[in-house]
Amino acid sequence: MDDDVTRVYTEGGTVTHYLDTLQSPNAQDSEAMCGRTPWPGMWHGTGSQEEEEKAADLRHCSQCRAVLGHRRNGWLTL
Ligand SMILES: [Zn+2]
Repeated sequence: MDDDVTRVYTEGGTVTHYLDTLQSPNAQDSEAMCGRTPWPGMWHGTGSQEEEEKAADLRHCSQCRAVLGHRRNGWLTL
């Protein structure tokens, strides 16, 4: 279901945000769907298997989910 997004989190973060696959997870100015940037750190979640698993396990940002749902369905799925 999440194939078209990159799941990322910030250093010490407690939620996973969604990055459009056009946005690089290695760029500090890449905005998640909710508008959040990793500043002053970097996005994590794609560097290793361990990071990918953590990104999958964390609670997913409700705003990112809402934006993604809106894109897919044309209505909010909160
Ligand atoms: Zn978010």
